[in-house]
Amino acid sequence: MAAPLPNPPMAPLFTSSDFATLLGLRDSATPGAAIPEGNEFARTMRMEQYLRRNRLEGADQQGVIWAKFCAHHLPATVERCLALPFPADWDPEVADDFLLDNAWTNMLVAVQHTPYFTRYVRSSAPAADAGKHLPRVLAERFLTLASRLEHEIARPSPRQDRYKFVAAKSLLLLGTLLRLSRAEPRSVLGPQTAARLGSFLRRWKARHHGIFLGAVSGRLHYFLTTRLHRDRAPQLGPPPETTGGETSATTATNAMTGEASAMTATSATTGETSTTTTATTAPLKRRCSFPSCPVRDNLQACGRCRTVRYCCIEHQRAHWAHPGGEHKLNCHKTLY
Ligand SMILES: [Zn+2]
Ligand SMILES: [Zn+2]
Repeated sequence: MAAPLPNPPMAPLFTSSDFATLLGLRDSATPGAAIPEGNEFARTMRMEQYLRRNRLEGADQQGVIWAKFCAHHLPATVERCLALPFPADWDPEVADDFLLDNAWTNMLVAVQHTPYFTRYVRSSAPAADAGKHLPRVLAERFLTLASRLEHEIARPSPRQDRYKFVAAKSLLLLGTLLRLSRAEPRSVLGPQTAARLGSFLRRWKARHHGIFLGAVSGRLHYFLTTRLHRDRAPQLGPPPETTGGETSATTATNAMTGEASAMTATSATTGETSTTTTATTAPLKRRCSFPSCPVRDNLQACGRCRTVRYCCIEHQRAHWAHPGGEHKLNCHKTLY
């Protein structure tokens, strides 16, 4: 009897370099892998294909790819997202759709939950400057399209679900950016944009109750209104410094060998006290990153990536090559 045929091999995971090539952020070693500027439908579709393939893999493996991508390419992705290439021959409606549904924005949607994204949004390094404009630009793009989205979502058509999806993921990304930013949403968006956005969200959370779009609208509306109300309350003192703890950090000098074990002291204000802004995204963990270690106090960030924190150097070393969740695969130096 013939041996059963093995399962057909699954296409390999798309790597950080594959994504960067697709987004036009690096030259491709493989001829034909890059998509020429202007061929934006092909880029958007191929991005979806890449993301769909990688989603079949475990979260850990995806996380390794996102960590590397974000460490090297997040600033450039944001810059390209802010300066979208608009082919001159597009009709205006197609160009409008492209504002929210493009490969760069969709990449940001995919990595918005990672600790590197948190780090980027909160960084005051020049490499992260473009990110400060992203929430406002995204909100303005959303408002440019919101009336038409509302119209398209309300009528049955082959594109109806696509518009729901585009609207929901744009609002999700905007919500993440606003929550991670420590500034008041109204000052980030501008009062008029915040007010216009609020009125759409109020309507959408009721109209799309019970589906993802309604949930995302409701959550962002709640966040905007509660933060806006707080905006009017008496001042409570300055918000926690975004990077003050990091810039004034004293690098521990005892028993340091190599980059991996460089630990940097971080002040209690980085991450720890900002519970309102970090509640629903994935910022630095509030306990030691070594699996099953319960310690929450006096944590020190990994001096190289600053995306994880430990109670002691022993746990940092043990986590570096810990089977099944080795930090060395996720640890990268960044410019932000
Ligand atoms: Zn520990
Ligand atoms: Zn690290």
